[in-house]
Amino acid sequence: MIYVDHHSTTPCDPRVLERMLPFFSERFGNSASITHSQGRNAASAVEEARISLARFLGADSSEIYFTAGATESNNIALNLLDPGQHLIVSAIEHKSILEPAKRLESAGVSVTILPVDREGFVAPDALAGAIRPNTRLASVMAANSEIGTIEPIRELASLCRERGVLFHTDATQAAGKIALDLGTIPCDLLSFSAHKVYGPKGIGGLFVRRGVRARPLVVGGGQERGVRSGTVNVPGVVGMAAAFDLRTSEMAEEGQRLTILRNDLWDRLLAAIPGASVNGPRGLRLAGNLNVSFERVEAESLIHAMRRFSLSSGSACSSGEHGPSPVLRAIGVSEALARGSIRIGLGKSNTAEQMTMLAEDLTHSVERIRRITAV
Ligand code: PMP
Repeated sequence: MIYVDHHSTTPCDPRVLERMLPFFSERFGNSASITHSQGRNAASAVEEARISLARFLGADSSEIYFTAGATESNNIALNLLDPGQHLIVSAIEHKSILEPAKRLESAGVSVTILPVDREGFVAPDALAGAIRPNTRLASVMAANSEIGTIEPIRELASLCRERGVLFHTDATQAAGKIALDLGTIPCDLLSFSAHKVYGPKGIGGLFVRRGVRARPLVVGGGQERGVRSGTVNVPGVVGMAAAFDLRTSEMAEEGQRLTILRNDLWDRLLAAIPGASVNGPRGLRLAGNLNVSFERVEAESLIHAMRRFSLSSGSACSSGEHGPSPVLRAIGVSEALARGSIRIGLGKSNTAEQMTMLAEDLTHSVERIRRITAV
């Protein structure tokens, strides 16, 4: 099977795994047990990782908190809202933003779901227009996991800063793929995760700008300065720092390579398959992302027919749920077309040869499905 679902997750880079391994065995200490050398040894690895990640993001190490992944980071970020306050989120956020927003709404927070345009962009004017005197926080993702749209977060964060509103961005798909410098982007909170950039699963982080006090979801031993209690996942933290460290030198080149592969695939598919259309923008898009709709085809049948490729129809967190993608519906794709859409996520392992195969297989499978369903 050729893996083209890199938005869902990525394989752990062997160099990352190598850095993690000692922390499962000889360097097994609990980073909070600083009364002995094993504990201090783990604690120093965690602090080194914090410094390295802070450097990667243009932040200070005191602003980085480790979590179990971006889902938890997003939930902690939204936990800043109190009843009576107002929250703004975009219509194409991941479920780990939309679900806590729903829960907050039933607890007395007012929530505005900001529409996006046909390419998935949030308009700064629309965000500015949605701000009310009681708006506490706005959350707009840095890049979308289905259609790859890269949001203008610098502008969005700046206007929130001017209006005294906190700005959070879910950078799960963006961090480690596009340049994000918190030294120049006035964003107050940012969520990231290791497993989208060749790091391990179950580890992520939240940047919280100095002066903002994040509130914990779980309380206990007070680890991570009270923001996230629980024994720190030391191998995970070390692996995440190693994964992002590798991105420093590899991200730009990989981005260029994947853009070429992706655009080539895009052009081939539209040329070969009648009734095919691409969702999302051509520029300001994650390099490895392509989202294509096929008229008169059910994505489920197509994915099943594509025996040589691991594909998906959208977010893994929603797959298994039937119904068209809310992201595609939010950009104005019809329900029927949304049901005939697949997401392609290219990554490190993909080659030009595979793109030729992918285009051929998709062309044949779409033709065959249309032929069978037309009978
Ligand atoms: N936000 C976005 C945009 C994502 O794509 C994902 C992963 N599908 C998440 C949040 C959740 O991240 P994690 O798997 O680290 O909880």
